[in-house]
Amino acid sequence: MYNKELNEGCGVFGVWGVPHAAEVTYYALHSLQHRGQEGCGIVSVNDEGWLNRVKGQGLVTEVFNEDNLATLQGNSAIGHVRYSTHGAGGIENVQPLLFRHNSGDFALVHNGNLVNSAQLRKYLEDRGSLFQSTSDSEILAHLIKKEPVERNGPRIIPIMEALNMIEGAFVFIIMTQHRLYICRDKYGFRPFSIGKLNGGFAVSSETCALSTIGAEYVRDVEPGEVVTIDHHGLRTRMYSDYQRHAMCAMEYIYFARPDSDIENVNVHAFRKETGKILWQEAPVDADIVVGVPDSSLSAASGYAEASGLPNEMGLIKNKYIGRTFIQPSQEMRDKGVKMKLSPVQSIVCGKRIVLVDDSIVRGTTSLRIVRMLRAAGAKEVHLRIASPMIKNPCFYGVDMSVHKELLCFSRTLEEACKAIEADSLAFLSEEGLFKAGHRADLCLACFNGDYPTALYSSIEEVKSEHKF
Ligand code: SF4
Repeated sequence: MYNKELNEGCGVFGVWGVPHAAEVTYYALHSLQHRGQEGCGIVSVNDEGWLNRVKGQGLVTEVFNEDNLATLQGNSAIGHVRYSTHGAGGIENVQPLLFRHNSGDFALVHNGNLVNSAQLRKYLEDRGSLFQSTSDSEILAHLIKKEPVERNGPRIIPIMEALNMIEGAFVFIIMTQHRLYICRDKYGFRPFSIGKLNGGFAVSSETCALSTIGAEYVRDVEPGEVVTIDHHGLRTRMYSDYQRHAMCAMEYIYFARPDSDIENVNVHAFRKETGKILWQEAPVDADIVVGVPDSSLSAASGYAEASGLPNEMGLIKNKYIGRTFIQPSQEMRDKGVKMKLSPVQSIVCGKRIVLVDDSIVRGTTSLRIVRMLRAAGAKEVHLRIASPMIKNPCFYGVDMSVHKELLCFSRTLEEACKAIEADSLAFLSEEGLFKAGHRADLCLACFNGDYPTALYSSIEEVKSEHKF
């Protein structure tokens, strides 16, 4: 994906009862790399029951090599790719987090964001907790261990008690010497799937990683569920009876890989359907449809199919401009998008273009693309967005700017269109989004402000934090 001012906050993976577990995890993390590029790590349990870890800042290919992977022996492992949405970057926040404890070592990985982390951190620090990191993921470990528990008592009880104290979006994998605990928040914000592999099990943020390693999809983890995986197989407990399923709509719209299925809906099929519905809701007289690569190509194909217009590759993405690309001056930064995306002049010159994009955050990227297409000779550029207007920040693990920086926060449709210099602009409706996935149990808070959880700050505090 090119950087569209919108970043997911991590991908998690775990495997139990499978030979060469760390190697399997390494391949799976490659498939989840789109969910975070700042750092990654793997912890495995060796035959003596010792938990070993390799982690570092950078891409999976930069952090791991044959030598350090060889230190991760055993049939059980968990892994993580990180984009920091909470807590600073830095090696201490790269996961898995590993804890040495007299009741048994354990490690954990987390995707999501806790909305009551500030309150819980204070509560724990007041009782003597010393945190190793600024990441909210560490809070769960301290909550699990805050009370002395019977050495041979069931570990699931303190885990379930701790899960009931945290609020927000999370999927956690907790790994001990003998088992994995797979936990999903009671709203089900983030996707989380279980597969079978060579007599063992694999769990992943996305099914694309299960396919990569040859695992057979079994099912999704339910909102509010804790699944235990060990030599007994799979066992399930609900830690919460609360039911308001609110799957993050942006997972379908932008984050997840098109070959992933989220709760039995394929991501490519969802996006293609949004494109078709977008044409029904906002048709335009034009010559060609151009999708913004990569995440908008499915929606563009749906728009083209429904409208009968040719779907052309009018923009090319430079796949080799990476995270570490240095743009030292403002002038170079202004040219940044052009380095990542280039128009195909022979296709766009003299054409009336329907430009399909999945979403608009700040609008600076859209403006640059519109200008770029005009400079390449496009006669008209009509922007069609395969999601509603983003008017609110996300508190659930998606780095989505602050209120005042969002293009559509305080602008009308006409003003937004003018700001990005398009000939026309239209967004998919919320109903269109529901229709595309045949489901209405989605979180749409960044579009409509209906946050499924309490935010643990008054709206005035949220507003002042976000300076609007
Ligand atoms: S606010 Fe938006 S990005 Fe955040 S979880 Fe909800 S739908 Fe996803």
